Amino acid sequence: MTKLLLIGGGHAHLSILRSLLHEEISDLEVTLITSSKFQYYSGMFSGFTEGQYDEDEIRIDLESLCSRASVSFIEDTIISFDPMQKVLLGFSGGIYSFDVISFDIEPWSSSELISTSELIPKHHLLDKLKKVRTSDSPVIIGNAAEAIEMALSITSWRKKYNMSKTVTLISSSSLLHSFGGKATKKIKEIAHHQNLEIYENEQVNDVNDNYIMTDKCTKVKYTSILPITGPKASSLFKQALLPVDSDGFLLVEDTLQNVEYPYVFGAGNCVTISEYPELVKRDVHAMKQGPILLKNIKRFISGRSLERFKPRRNPYSLLSTGEHQGLFIYKNMTLHGKWVWNMKHIINQRFIKNHVL
Ligand SMILES: Cc1cc2nc3c(=O)[nH]c(=O)nc-3n(C[C@H](O)[C@H](O)[C@H](O)COP(=O)(O)OP(=O)(O)OC[C@H]3O[C@@H](n4cnc5c(N)ncnc54)[C@H](O)[C@@H]3O)c2cc1C
Repeated sequence: MTKLLLIGGGHAHLSILRSLLHEEISDLEVTLITSSKFQYYSGMFSGFTEGQYDEDEIRIDLESLCSRASVSFIEDTIISFDPMQKVLLGFSGGIYSFDVISFDIEPWSSSELISTSELIPKHHLLDKLKKVRTSDSPVIIGNAAEAIEMALSITSWRKKYNMSKTVTLISSSSLLHSFGGKATKKIKEIAHHQNLEIYENEQVNDVNDNYIMTDKCTKVKYTSILPITGPKASSLFKQALLPVDSDGFLLVEDTLQNVEYPYVFGAGNCVTISEYPELVKRDVHAMKQGPILLKNIKRFISGRSLERFKPRRNPYSLLSTGEHQGLFIYKNMTLHGKWVWNMKHIINQRFIKNHVL
C-alpha cells in the first residue's frame, strides 16, 4: 500500500478530493493534513465583507469531503519537513510519514509591512475583516487586485450602515498595474466614485501606534490595518533544504514534481514552476493543476511518464467592486456592471456546491 500525504486543502488538492469521490485507487492510502477543518473560498471574501454571504456559504467542510472521498483527515499545521527521511512534524506534535507527498499550502499568511509581523492565515481572516470594516479609520495595504476588492467591499458595507468616514488604500504601484493602463483608469474611476481614499505608488515605511508613514513621507492615520500584500513563501521548504526559487517558493517542473526529490509534488501558490517562473500566483492556475497532479502522482507510483501542465494564457478576471457591481478584465478589455457581479456570484456558488452533499 502506497501512503500519499496531501498537505493543505488548496485548490489543486480540492480537485483531487473531488476525483476521489468517484474513483477508488487500489493500493493507495490517502491522507489530507491541513490547518483548518474548513477551506474558505477567497473569491467570495469580498462578498462576505460586503455582507452578501454568510460564513458557512463561503467555506468547504474538508473533514466531511474527505470522509465521502475515503480519505483520512487530520487537522494540523505542518511546521517541519525532512524530505530525506520522509517525515513531517505537525504543530500538534504529530509525526507523519509518507511514500509520496504533495503540497498545496497557503502562502498568503504574512504581511510585508515594516514594523509589523501580523499573521493572518485565511481561516482567521474573517474575524479580521469584521473588525476592520467597523473600525473608525481602516487602511488596506497592498497592490494586488484583492486589496482593491477588499477596500471597495468594506466601503460598500460601511455605506449601508451609514459609516461616513472613508476607507484608505495604500498601494506600492498604480492600481491594477499588471492588468494594463485601461484597467488602472477604470478602477480609479470606480474607486473615486466610491469615495475611496487612495495613495498609489507609495511604499509603507513605518507603522506606529496611530500613523502609517510611506516612503513619500505621507502620514496616514489609522485605527485598523488590513494587509493584503500577496503570496509569501512558507519557510517550510527552505528549512527542509528543498530546491526553492529566489523568493522561497518550492520549485517544481511543469509535471508538478520536484526534480531532486521525485516523490515530492506541489501545486497552487506555494510552488514556482521552473518552466513558467513568471506565472502569476492565482487560483485559476491552481485549479487547472489539480487533475494533472493526481494523474502524475498515479503515474509516478506505477513508473509511467508524467504529463505536463500548460497554464491558461490570458485568463479573464472578475473583480467585485461593491454594491452588486463587478469589473470584468480580459486582455485589454474592461467592462463594468451588475452582470459581472452576477456572473461571479454564479461561478462562486457553483464552486462551493461542487464540494457539498
Ligand atoms: C482577501 C483575499 C481575497 C482573494 N481573492 C481572490 C480572488 O478573487 N481570485 C483569486 O484568484 N485569488 C484570490 N485570492 C488569492 C487566492 O486566495 C489564492 O490565489 C488561492 O487561494 C491559492 O490557492 P492555493 O491552492 O494555492 O491555496 P489556498 O487556497 O490558499 O489553500 C491552502 C491550504 O493550505 C492550508 N495550510 C497552509 N499552511 C499549512 C501548513 N503549514 N500545514 C498544513 N496546511 C496548511 C490552509 O489551511 C489551506 O487549506 C485572494 C486572497 C485573499 C487573501
